[in-house]
Amino acid sequence: MPREPATADIPPAPPAIDTQYTPVTARVLAAPVPVPGTDGRVHLAYELALVNHLSQPAKIASLRVTDGTRALLSLTPDALKPRILVQGKGFGETTIGPGQQAVVWLHVPLPDMASVPDRVQHVLTLDFASPKPPLVPARLEEVVAVTRIDRTPPVVIGPPLAGPRWLNGNSCCEMTPHRMAVSPINGDLWAAERYAIDYVKLDAAGRMFTGDITRLSSYPSYGEKVYAVADGKVVAMLNTLRESTPGANPTGLAIGEYGGNYVVQDIGSGRYAFYAHLQAGNPYALKVGQSLKRGQPLGLLGNTGNSDAPHLHFHVMDSPEPLASNGLPFVFDAFALEGHVMSEASLAEGGSKPVPFQITRQGAGERRGQMPLHRDVMGYPAR
Ligand SMILES: [Zn+2]
Repeated sequence: MPREPATADIPPAPPAIDTQYTPVTARVLAAPVPVPGTDGRVHLAYELALVNHLSQPAKIASLRVTDGTRALLSLTPDALKPRILVQGKGFGETTIGPGQQAVVWLHVPLPDMASVPDRVQHVLTLDFASPKPPLVPARLEEVVAVTRIDRTPPVVIGPPLAGPRWLNGNSCCEMTPHRMAVSPINGDLWAAERYAIDYVKLDAAGRMFTGDITRLSSYPSYGEKVYAVADGKVVAMLNTLRESTPGANPTGLAIGEYGGNYVVQDIGSGRYAFYAHLQAGNPYALKVGQSLKRGQPLGLLGNTGNSDAPHLHFHVMDSPEPLASNGLPFVFDAFALEGHVMSEASLAEGGSKPVPFQITRQGAGERRGQMPLHRDVMGYPAR
């Protein structure tokens, strides 16, 4: 006779939602995972894929993220414009055409872990020029993408680099190139780079390069040792590409060449570390299947693949495939937050001219168990 399940075995009932006609459907690319950042807040960074199933346009009047009762984030059309991509139209557009799709990048900062809800849901307010009541009124409020929060704790890792003055460009959680890299690969949409960091080393004056922008030797980053962030085997690598000329992104790359020379390391529990744009001619004679210890050097920082200046691209993902995977958050067990580049304008200027970044030291200090945020400058132990 089958055993009666204990009460604890019965999953909780799904939240009750009235049956509703939702002509714009939405799904999350992946359930949000809360992660503490260097600003002291806890961040939910995730994406919605929307589809308008009608033969008329659906104009978004607002998008609210709630926990079922409490509003966590409210976006007006103006606030939505920079973070919604209507396929075929681009950014700056909040009307989804007939049969059209859109991607929305969401960032919900919360004060602490205790305020993270069990689930989020999304209230879309839509306007239709040709109402068909009762199913399609002129203004429709619909609840979509009811999603449980993934409370798997972010993996705790060590730094992939050593020494002071490592600037984190392009990482979570606002609309950086990494967050925006939602790509159709192997038949689905992926946000592998959701939490990826582009590391560049600054000189003592706070510059990314001095002298000729097109020379590799102008960059303090170039040739720095890259280290394993945890124990684990090398499961994939490429070591055949030559260095690109800095100053501009190369063109005509095959899909497998974007990461340049890279290493993918299995760091356990379904997580993989990705180290990209490594220098040609890896001196460590790495092989697939080789076990690495945390802190073991695995390559040199280079400028191979889709890279316009020497840097280390680093991320953690849920499969060994660098592009067709879901990007996962990670935290460093300990590091020094040295400062923060004050603006995107300073970031752009310091990345294109041999001038120091404008860095504030506010909030600088030792950090434990936090994910670095976009524009942070970090120091790691010397090796
Ligand atoms: Zn990158």
